[in-house]
Amino acid sequence: MDVLVINAGSSSLKYQLIDADSENVLAKGIVERIGIPHSVLKHTAEGKEKYIVEKELSNHRVAVELMLKVLLDDKYGVIKDLKEISAVGHRVLHGGPDFSDSQIVTEPVLKAIKDNIVLGPLHNPANLMGIKACTEAMPGVPQVAVFDTAFGQTMPPRAYLYGLPYEAYTKHKVRRYGFHGTSHRYVSMSAAELMGNPEHLKLITCHLGNGSSLSAVKDGKCVDTSMGLTPLEGVIMGTRCGSIDPAIVKYMMERENMTIEEMDTYMNKKSGVLGLSGISSDFRDLSSAAEEGNERAKMALEAFAYSVKKYFGAYSAAMGGLDCIAFTAGIGENDPEMRANIMDGLEFLGIELDPEKNSHRGVKMEISKSSSKVKVFVIPTNEELMIARDTVKLLSK
Ligand code: ADP
Repeated sequence: MDVLVINAGSSSLKYQLIDADSENVLAKGIVERIGIPHSVLKHTAEGKEKYIVEKELSNHRVAVELMLKVLLDDKYGVIKDLKEISAVGHRVLHGGPDFSDSQIVTEPVLKAIKDNIVLGPLHNPANLMGIKACTEAMPGVPQVAVFDTAFGQTMPPRAYLYGLPYEAYTKHKVRRYGFHGTSHRYVSMSAAELMGNPEHLKLITCHLGNGSSLSAVKDGKCVDTSMGLTPLEGVIMGTRCGSIDPAIVKYMMERENMTIEEMDTYMNKKSGVLGLSGISSDFRDLSSAAEEGNERAKMALEAFAYSVKKYFGAYSAAMGGLDCIAFTAGIGENDPEMRANIMDGLEFLGIELDPEKNSHRGVKMEISKSSSKVKVFVIPTNEELMIARDTVKLLSK
């Protein structure tokens, strides 16, 4: 059974065709600049040459049609007939309080995704365009929505409520939702497997990339997570400020004469390690700059590591202990130095990193010493596979 996994952005569309039985990726690609001049599709398939198509694509519908044409192509494609695509799984950002699990797309599900546009104004409209385009191009093929916020729905009220008047929650849905849920779910399941699937397990998953978040996962359920109503809360990120004193918003708007939109851009796009260093949001650039003696780059990296480290203390307290930590995403998988800096001084929690094992990049493996009470793993994330698995599970019900 082949499942097409779609991650639609406002002007892009990433796809993977996955053989759900073997879990092999048959083909994958990205369509960029949809609706803007110089659209392009970049496609790779198992054992075939890379294929690039430059063609004006005015909307998601024509982008999906081109993608399907390429998947069917004699030379670059991997299927002979569209019927080979049994289902489509879509990444959807915000399910609000409505969904604690993936859903087969129906009218009420579409309405809920629409109603939650207020919570995910950049992503939900694009996700809807992706669903609509696939429904039109592949009528009758079941579509499944996999929500980034679903994993966080098991948090208890004490973890998801903010200290605001309760009506902010009941009237305006203001609460912690958390993001990267599909990644935290995949990584926590893989970590539990590596631990031998014990009945009780307290683990912390660290998704550290351009956007970063941590989740506390107890016995397979998310009990707390660092991102909040939006992906702005939590640790310091590439360009996002993470948690700050909320009073800073008014203070800086007054001082710098900023509008609400400008303040939003300031915190989302100009802050984080980019804002602190004045150099880059990319950790590779910052590491090189720090090595060359740039003090602001060093400080930005230290501030990032410190902001992540504090969550280990917080989440160990929240769960009443800690058995396992799993690192994933761009930085978590590929930056041994950052992992070591984050873990530095945490021996009191029973964490002992093995420097040799930790020197590897991008490999699923344990990086703690065999004597370490808390096991530490690197687990490359695979959100697409998780979406494909959910899609198959829902359809076989
Ligand atoms: P996104 O949140 O966009 O999915 P990724 O998970 O791909 O982001 O992470 C991107 C970040 O990972 C980059 O900004 C970069 O800082 C970091 N990164 C990727 N590879 C390395 C590496 N080899 N060493 C250090 N950092 C890396």
